[in-house]
Amino acid sequence: MKLREIYKSGKTVISFEIFPPDNAEAVEKLFTEAGVLKNLNPAFISLTHSASGKNKENARKIFLELKNDFNFQIMPHFTCICSTKENIDESLDFFKTNGTENILALRGDIPEDKSIICKNFCNAAELVEYLNTKTDFSIAVAGYPEGHIESPSIKADIENLKKKIDSGADVIFTQMFFENEKFFEFLDRIEKAGIQKPVAAGIMPVISLNQLNKMTRLAKVTIPEKFKEKIISRQDDKNYIRELGIEFASKQCLELLEHNADGLHFFTLNRSYSAKRILENIYGGSYGKS
Ligand SMILES: Cc1cc2nc3c(=O)[nH]c(=O)nc-3n(C[C@H](O)[C@H](O)[C@H](O)COP(=O)(O)OP(=O)(O)OC[C@H]3O[C@@H](n4cnc5c(N)ncnc54)[C@H](O)[C@@H]3O)c2cc1C
Repeated sequence: MKLREIYKSGKTVISFEIFPPDNAEAVEKLFTEAGVLKNLNPAFISLTHSASGKNKENARKIFLELKNDFNFQIMPHFTCICSTKENIDESLDFFKTNGTENILALRGDIPEDKSIICKNFCNAAELVEYLNTKTDFSIAVAGYPEGHIESPSIKADIENLKKKIDSGADVIFTQMFFENEKFFEFLDRIEKAGIQKPVAAGIMPVISLNQLNKMTRLAKVTIPEKFKEKIISRQDDKNYIRELGIEFASKQCLELLEHNADGLHFFTLNRSYSAKRILENIYGGSYGKS
């Protein structure tokens, strides 16, 4: 089903982001975790893509296995900063042939080697515009509750988002955030800008200090001081931090549900445990099939 239909249900749409690992052991582990995630009945999962295009064949194998063996609806991420129109056309053919209806259209992070960027596309709005001429897929784009790190201002950031929507995007998936107030302010800003599209809130269940530092290093994301202090105070206690992450994200999600969030999109990092516990906390103990 297309995103534009999925988000019309009036219910908060649950979805998961996963990434295609590049070693065999991690791929095996992913398939074990995918079985649990499947039982949580997500509307769809999204599959990340490396902006440099590395590891494409492996990523496609994983896509096919997730689709055919687990019967997931999958929204692949498309990045364009290092892609030519031919690369995009070839990917569209592959995903269309394999039953895809939705894409998350992204610029991608700028690689260190600047000679390989902006071949045909320099930003996501250009990609959305191109995709719309080539396909009837439903197209999603990224939004940044605290602004994108390269954006000169919050105003410029919203103008860029508006450009992506006006180029034909149907849904917005946000960067992770830990302060719901930032998300609510973002919703106000986009409404004032005349954007009337569903917004799926990006939820990151924290599992370690390392992960938190890594995920927020390149993004503008405020981490509440008390939350961070607690993590730092017991940074070697994995179970404690995972439980803290579950408790924190559960509260966050409950408040988002009270505000009728269009969607909760969990950055799972290929793990099911925290997502499952959070969904049980917010919807009740027997959430999902098992
Ligand atoms: C939900 C989500 C999923 C993601 N998945 C992936 C993934 O799978 N792979 C990956 O590599 N990255 C991924 N990213 C990260 C993303 O690629 C980076 O944040 C990237 O830096 C920006 O991508 P974008 O699509 O938001 O870019 P854009 O919307 O193009 O914006 C990027 C920056 O460029 C500026 N800009 C845009 N157009 C212009 C213009 N004409 N002139 C001047 N400035 C301009 C914008 O203001 C913004 O600061 C994801 C991000 C999110 C939120």
